[in-house]
Amino acid sequence: MKFRIKLETEFSWGETRSHEINTLERRTVDASNEDLGLCLAEAKSVLKEIQRALLQDQVEEISEIARVCRFCGTYLPVHDRRQRRIDTLFGRVTIEAPRVRICMCEPPGLPMLKVAHSPLTRLLPDNATPELRRLQAELGARHSFREAARLLNELTPCTKQNHVTIRNRLATTADNLVSDERSAASETDQRPKSPDITMFLDSAYVRSRPEYQRRNFELIVGSIESKGREKRRFGLSVIGADNPRDYLRRNLEAAGWRDGTAVTVLSDGDPALPRLVRDATGAEINHILDWWHISIRIRHVETTFQTLFSLFEDPEGLAVKKLVQNLRWCIWHGQTARALDAIEELFRIGLHVRSQTFGRTNDAVFSAVSRTMELQTYLQYNRAALVDYGHRRRNGKPVSTSRAEGLVNDVANARMGKKRRMRWSPQGAHRVATVRAAVLDGRLGEGQLRAA
Ligand SMILES: [Zn+2]
Repeated sequence: MKFRIKLETEFSWGETRSHEINTLERRTVDASNEDLGLCLAEAKSVLKEIQRALLQDQVEEISEIARVCRFCGTYLPVHDRRQRRIDTLFGRVTIEAPRVRICMCEPPGLPMLKVAHSPLTRLLPDNATPELRRLQAELGARHSFREAARLLNELTPCTKQNHVTIRNRLATTADNLVSDERSAASETDQRPKSPDITMFLDSAYVRSRPEYQRRNFELIVGSIESKGREKRRFGLSVIGADNPRDYLRRNLEAAGWRDGTAVTVLSDGDPALPRLVRDATGAEINHILDWWHISIRIRHVETTFQTLFSLFEDPEGLAVKKLVQNLRWCIWHGQTARALDAIEELFRIGLHVRSQTFGRTNDAVFSAVSRTMELQTYLQYNRAALVDYGHRRRNGKPVSTSRAEGLVNDVANARMGKKRRMRWSPQGAHRVATVRAAVLDGRLGEGQLRAA
């Protein structure tokens, strides 16, 4: 049997036009399962044909409407016709786009320098449809550039993609996101500013390309949250961004920050992170050491002491368990001095056990003591950022960056994790992180597409 696919256009002025799209043939006698329905190759070619017909007629009507002067109603002549190539998700289409003469009635000024304009240019400044650009950037932020190109080639009839096309598109998209933010920030945001903002910060390390004279560089990921607003995520390479302070400030502004908004930063011990926010806001911030990072270190102390006491029958094991529990309780309630006392006690117990067991437990003692020491250093180093976590939690305030932790995976590691064995330039990594964060927030598609 045969299937004929046709497309019928109905122009606003009543004219209709018919396009032959494709004819498909199917065996019915001796049909196999391969004969059922559309296959990918056919679907791609059908879509491509439909796209071509659609665009051709659309451009025709749009140009025709543009020929009527919007000031005086004169029907303007076509100056010339130019071939335009339009890249779409459904193939590259070449169409004849007319350029319309500029009307004599138009007030003198800049437009008079030109004799004609193409109505299509206003719609499609860079010859690619927004959907294609979004997909190129989105896939490029999720997969390797080669894989993204392969997926597009495999599944869509778009013109042949390669890793360079994808990489370039992602770069433009990232740069547009940033410049967009600049113009959006200058426009008046009617919403009231947020009274307070919480920022969760964490960082990941990305393998550097050899020419940058370093093994790794840091990629900061963050999430900015405030009541009644969408969560705002971002990724930032301080050495890869044009102006990291400005970039951070734009992100804060997009999340409702204005001069005077109180900012609380939750992060792990790296002092560079809160400093960066201080620079961006030009004001003091409230820095809190993230509970999650402390909790992991307490857990290490717990497990190493458990291992130590499992090595021999020990009546003291229970006492140590209590001591560690107490340690956790003290830190949770912001009683740092008492927590540090508990740590001293754990040191003493560790050394005592070693002397009692005549070296049998050396390794276990060593790891228990070194884990405890790690916790001690961590607390001492970040003492100013330790708070009463219990109190915060009871007041419904966040105590942990565990959400930012997931963000490290989503923004950084998924694409640039060390396991992926890829090397990055700081600028490239910054761009991928910028687009990744925009994809996660669902921001890709509004701003960036408006800008281009
Ligand atoms: Zn006119």
